[in-house]
Amino acid sequence: MNIFIAALATETNTFSPIPTGRAAFCEREYFRNDGSRRPPRLGNIPLIEWRAMGEGDGHRVVESLSTFAQPAGITLRHVYEELRDTLLADLKAAMPVDVVLLFMHGAMVAEGYDDCEGDTLARVREIVGPGAKIGIELDLHCHLTEEIRVSADAIVTFKEYPHTDIPDRARELYRLCTAAKRGEIAPVMAYYDCRMIAMWRTSEEPMRSFVRRMEALEGQDGILSVSFGHGFPWGDVADVGAKMLVIADGDEAKAAALARSLGEEIWSLREATRTPYDTIDEGIDAAMDSMGGAGPLVLADVADNAGGGAPSDSTAILRRLVERGVRDVATGCYWDRGAVEICRTAGVGATLDLRIGGKLGPASGDPVDLTVTVRGMSESHSQAGLSGGRAELGPSVWVEADGIHIILVSVRQQTFAPDAFTGLGCELGDKNLVIVKSTQHFYAAFAPIARAVRYVAAPGAVAPDYAAIPYRKRVAPYWPRVSDPFELGG
Ligand SMILES: [Zn+2]
Repeated sequence: MNIFIAALATETNTFSPIPTGRAAFCEREYFRNDGSRRPPRLGNIPLIEWRAMGEGDGHRVVESLSTFAQPAGITLRHVYEELRDTLLADLKAAMPVDVVLLFMHGAMVAEGYDDCEGDTLARVREIVGPGAKIGIELDLHCHLTEEIRVSADAIVTFKEYPHTDIPDRARELYRLCTAAKRGEIAPVMAYYDCRMIAMWRTSEEPMRSFVRRMEALEGQDGILSVSFGHGFPWGDVADVGAKMLVIADGDEAKAAALARSLGEEIWSLREATRTPYDTIDEGIDAAMDSMGGAGPLVLADVADNAGGGAPSDSTAILRRLVERGVRDVATGCYWDRGAVEICRTAGVGATLDLRIGGKLGPASGDPVDLTVTVRGMSESHSQAGLSGGRAELGPSVWVEADGIHIILVSVRQQTFAPDAFTGLGCELGDKNLVIVKSTQHFYAAFAPIARAVRYVAAPGAVAPDYAAIPYRKRVAPYWPRVSDPFELGG
């Protein structure tokens, strides 16, 4: 069997002020033909699995791009077209191909392309013809469009948020597509539109059990695979929203029936799965009220999550920490290259006046001016990333101002793991409060060291007010903007 593998991905926040250009793909993670032979980052994690399985089974594996840009605003047209055409040229050169396995995000938007995944898949199908099997692995924060469904033989999304199962889903997709090519199964897919826009944390009940139930249904009674596409709320595209996806063996009605019943279950869980958000002061109060417990209280600054396309330099919470004189607190990661440069020049041990954050847009608030001491520094800082990958943070510094410890980085990246702090020497065990700029990925690595985890809805570029997101392209009613979008028809 000839197997073609590639990754081309980013998550597009169409409301973000930061355009996604060539550098966003090239600087962070861009490999051609050999991404699967590199240490795990993010985009190459499925490719590593696919190469190992394909070669283990004696197949020929041909590899193209492996690139994943940090989520931000709309991708420039010529950048998307160049990347896509590179992938397609490699595919043409690799023909005849029996199986195509792609890793894309599912929420990538470029100028002129609201559905980059559907566009790429349709072109892949044109090249390989109807006999080849095409599988695509997507982030669960995806827009499941009809074009993706009709162009692919199998779509598998992550099941876990935090995304801890990227390699597992890659192996699942490989097994489905190679079995389909051998004629052992005939995958058919159905969606069910939940008419909801929200976020679901699978680390907690009732979503933990829902994920386990999806897994238990697979391999039973002609059901091959079950995915819940949570959707990505900050994408202004017609298909934004949550959808259930079921792959059945040859029986589309069966796939549709299960997708509907699981989708109705998600609908019925809508209140139980809501995240409780603190105000900034409630979050700080919770830390003060529970001082002395084992480990810090960890607060998530969800509205400034770089992983959702936010600038990661919002000062809303930092300002309040300063105003209230909070001490024994660590917070990061702030994307502020200018401040990093000043601190690198000053050197470790220097005390200086520093202007921090609040530079990249109205959602970032105003900068905060502090007298800081530079406590630690790295020329090439990094942290543990998703599913065993490593995430670069670039030249970075740890500064302290009166018991407030701040991590400043030069590569925009959400805070995934404690080593974002400890890698610079900033210990967390002695802190009362740790504040991370992340929506949920932080949870996997921070929960084990935290006495409690809470979520704060501060102002910011990805504030979790789904009813208020100013969509122009989604016309169908959705919860929570309306209380019952099913009653209204549409
Ligand atoms: Zn995601």
